[in-house]
Amino acid sequence: MIDAKLASKSHPDHQTIVNISSQISCGGKELVIIGGPCAVESWEQMETVAQKLSAAPVQALRGGVFKPRTSPYAFQGMGEEGLKILAQVRSRYRIPVVTEVMSVSQIEMVAACADMLQVGSRNMHNFDLLKALGKAGKPVLLKRGLAATVEEFLMAAEYILSHGNPHVVLCERGIRSFDRYTRNVLDLGAVAAVKQITHLPIIVDPSHALGKRELVAPLARAAIACGADGLIIECHPEPEKSVSDARQALSLEDMVDLVRSLKPVAASVGRSISEQIGVGFKPTPICLTVENNSLLTPASVQRR
Ligand code: PEP
Ligand code: MN
Repeated sequence: MIDAKLASKSHPDHQTIVNISSQISCGGKELVIIGGPCAVESWEQMETVAQKLSAAPVQALRGGVFKPRTSPYAFQGMGEEGLKILAQVRSRYRIPVVTEVMSVSQIEMVAACADMLQVGSRNMHNFDLLKALGKAGKPVLLKRGLAATVEEFLMAAEYILSHGNPHVVLCERGIRSFDRYTRNVLDLGAVAAVKQITHLPIIVDPSHALGKRELVAPLARAAIACGADGLIIECHPEPEKSVSDARQALSLEDMVDLVRSLKPVAASVGRSISEQIGVGFKPTPICLTVENNSLLTPASVQRR
């Protein structure tokens, strides 16, 4: 039906497990919960996030340093300075990090610091980027395009797989529809369908799907109940002050409560949430080092 030779299941039990670090993997019995802000804003912010979330426990941190913003005048991310912050938090808290790569030219720099490279929704159809990620040697988190069909989504994954990288995790993050009450429409039907069609793990991003923090927790639980292999959720030490996507950011306390509430849901579908993070995780050598933390606070971050 779908011409995704490599992404399709060869038999009903065919399931790929993608290793994010030596301890954390996605697609097995244990769920992967990824938490953190929309954008890296400062060292202090990421340090607070890492400290609170590693006890939640979440298994990986997120934080964008290259941000695909609708307006060219909005904060575009901290770039390389933000990567240095991620690298430092990763090594201090021994927790894997996931961050977005927007162009082919950024791959090498991001791959040197991050454990998993995110392809954002707006780039799902960027075939040059997908091909290059086939050679990146790091797991890829591929988000579904804003208006991509399930077939287009899987064919985008096929680009990465067919160019040499078998470590792909899909991410359903909501699709555009006529109703603007929620930011997008979370397509849990697609999650159930993808679980039947492909052996690749799929996680859910209820933050971008709903766009409102009070709707994130119920849909996060629904995602786990319908078979998702994990979640990626935006949260922030001061949610209303987030430089981007403030309306959907959870507080760190609410994030911890949410993770707790997922446990019985996970158990009801034969899954679990690991209590451990980072144990045995050896950060790989990082090319970027932070010499002076004072460098790391953006002087004028335009808040939106
Ligand atoms: C993000 O993860 O911050 C993001 C921009 O997501 P998406 O590409 O799904 O809009
Ligand atoms: Mn965001």
